Amino acid sequence: MNFNEYQKEAQATAVYPGKGENLCYPTLGLNGEAGEVGEKVKKLMRDHDGIDFKKYLLDQHLWAQNVFGPGARDAGLINHIKKELDEINKAPGDIEEWVDVVILALEGALRHANPETVIDTLLTKQKKNFSRKWPDWRTFHSNEPIEHLK
Ligand SMILES: [Mg+2]
Repeated sequence: MNFNEYQKEAQATAVYPGKGENLCYPTLGLNGEAGEVGEKVKKLMRDHDGIDFKKYLLDQHLWAQNVFGPGARDAGLINHIKKELDEINKAPGDIEEWVDVVILALEGALRHANPETVIDTLLTKQKKNFSRKWPDWRTFHSNEPIEHLK
């Protein structure tokens, strides 16, 4: 099919009031199509530039409540995190073990606050840490925790 043939066939689907004299209708249709493309590009940017973290937290929390039950489960989560820390200690290069701790820590927070509050707290804490004074890391052994200056 060449372009002329395509145009001819596409004309058959152009059904609207005042066809051929009404420029507003196809212009609005074109805007609608452009909006749909914009929406798809927006979602591509969102999904390829990170995750929808609020949705992730909500999905994770709903799943965890369903599988592990309701309530705070503080002691259960803390003990599980300790177990995962031992697993990291045995295989620090295994990123899944670090992620296990991240998931459990987020689940602990979500059992005390909604996803928006957890995200706000993450951002607030990051800003706080960025603004704090930290000692020179070169003065510490790599197995020592480095805490901010008081
Ligand atoms: Mg693990």
